[in-house]
This record gives sequence, C-alpha cells and structure tokens, in this order.
Amino acid sequence: MKLGSHVGNKGKEMLVGAVKEAINYKANCFMVYLGAPQNSYRKKLEDLNIPSFQELLKEHGINKHDVIVHAPYIVNLAQPNDVKRQFAIDFITNEVKRTYAIGAKYIVVHPGATLNLGIDKGLEKIADSIKVILHNTKETDVEILIETMSGKGSEACYRFEQIKTIIDIVDSPRINVCFDTCHTFDSGYDLVDNYDEVISEFDRIIGIEKIKVIHLNDSKNILGSRKDRHANIGFGNIGFDTLHKICKDKRFDSIPKILETPYVQDYPPYKFEIEMLKEGQFNQNLYNDIEKYYEK
Ligand code: FE
Ligand code: FE
Ligand code: ZN
Repeated sequence: MKLGSHVGNKGKEMLVGAVKEAINYKANCFMVYLGAPQNSYRKKLEDLNIPSFQELLKEHGINKHDVIVHAPYIVNLAQPNDVKRQFAIDFITNEVKRTYAIGAKYIVVHPGATLNLGIDKGLEKIADSIKVILHNTKETDVEILIETMSGKGSEACYRFEQIKTIIDIVDSPRINVCFDTCHTFDSGYDLVDNYDEVISEFDRIIGIEKIKVIHLNDSKNILGSRKDRHANIGFGNIGFDTLHKICKDKRFDSIPKILETPYVQDYPPYKFEIEMLKEGQFNQNLYNDIEKYYEK
C-alpha cells in the first residue's frame, strides 16, 4: 500500500526535512510544495538540499517517483487576462523544471478558475496554457496531473468530462490526473454508495490508467456541496470504510495516496491516520491519541 501525506519543505533542512517527516509518519510516499503554495517567492534550487535529499530517499527505500510535487495554487491557468495568464504559465513552467531538478516525476496542478469566461472558453485557456508549459519543459519527463476539483466558485474540472476535454486538446502522454476524494465527493460523485460506479465512470470517460496520484481526504461537507473542506479520515461524510476501500483497491496498488487532512490542535494527524488505514481499523480516539502523543 503506497500511503503518505503532504509534508513540510522549509527551514534549513528543506527537502531533507520533508523526508524525515515522512519517515516519522511511516509513509512510503509524500507530497511537497517547492515554495509557499500561496505566493510566488521561490528559494534557489541550491538551497533545497537536493543531493542529501536524494541520498536519504535511497537510504529509506523511497522511490523518487513517489515524491509528488504540488504546484502553488495562486496562479490561474484559465486567467482571461493575457498578461496574468503569461505569468501563470511562466511560473508553472519554472515549477515543472524544479520538479525535474529534485528528481520527481509528477506535479499536481489545480486547473484554474474560469471567472467570467464560462466553462468552455475556460477549459480551452487551461489546455492552451498546459500545452505551452509542456512545450517549455520538453527536455523533462515530468507529468502534469490535473486535480479533480470540487467546483467551488468558478473552479474548472469538477466533472470528469471537463478533465477529458483538456486532456484531448493537450494530447500528450505527459498530462494525467490526480484524483482527490474530498473534491470528487463534494462535486457530486457518490464514492460512499456508488464507489464502483464512480470509478467505472472515470474509466469510461478518462481512463483509469490516467490516475497517477490519489489525494485521500475525508470531507466536512455533504455529497454535491461543492465546498472543498477536508476532514480527518473517518471524521467526515465519506467515512473510514470508503477511504480504506480505496487504499485496498488492487487497481490503485502502485498509486501514491496522499493525505491532506487538517491538523488536530496544531498537530499533524498523519502518523495516526496512516496507521489506522494500514490496520484497517477506525480509531474513534484519534484526536485524543494525537494530542497525547504530541503533548508529552
Ligand atoms: Fe490540490
Ligand atoms: Fe487535493
Ligand atoms: Zn481541497
């Protein structure tokens, strides 16, 4: 079972700290931002600690392709304003190059918000932007993973058909998908009562082999709420059984599953959520156990 969480990438240790954090959670895959998700300031590559990072990965038997990068979400590839959209393209181009530089293969991208463009024009803009980014980085093997979104605001790609539209326009093996369980549920796909149907629908429309990463999150809101608020595993409306079923699904055996669940009283829940999913047993006392562990 490939299971991990998003981890920090900060301070002096940077990527080395990220591996140590993942090891601490007994994770065998993880996800990082290469700088703050909400701004465009980026440290120099030399300061990321890449050689020691790669050594540490090897030492712990973590495959570098199981290190997932998440692109910052402040830039919008559907931006109607051409100057701003060019900034977004340049910025993500750079992030793809940085992803390659650290030895990773997958970068998860939020497709964008279509604002006043409407969905069809918005999807075209996103596809055009991604085409340019792939062209700008053709010396790399990095793949862009479009994340399934919840559809809050004017967010694109809350329907599988919308992702398919982008994939068809871009027409490259370097465009694939990150399946976020909270987002998919919030957008109206019933993972709880119709898990197999939802996966079949994805397979029919996009192709299940296009899923390269899963974001495993519970949801604070109900099916179809289009809200996007993550809950701890088993404490939301998706529930432990369904999330555990995804972990156990043979079709996703080799796919990294990344937790992006909220901190509990400022403490990361991942060590405990990973343990619970590995054991296949919901821990009603999760919050207590986390607080006890970190407070001593
Ligand atoms: Fe995301
Ligand atoms: Fe996500
Ligand atoms: Zn989310």
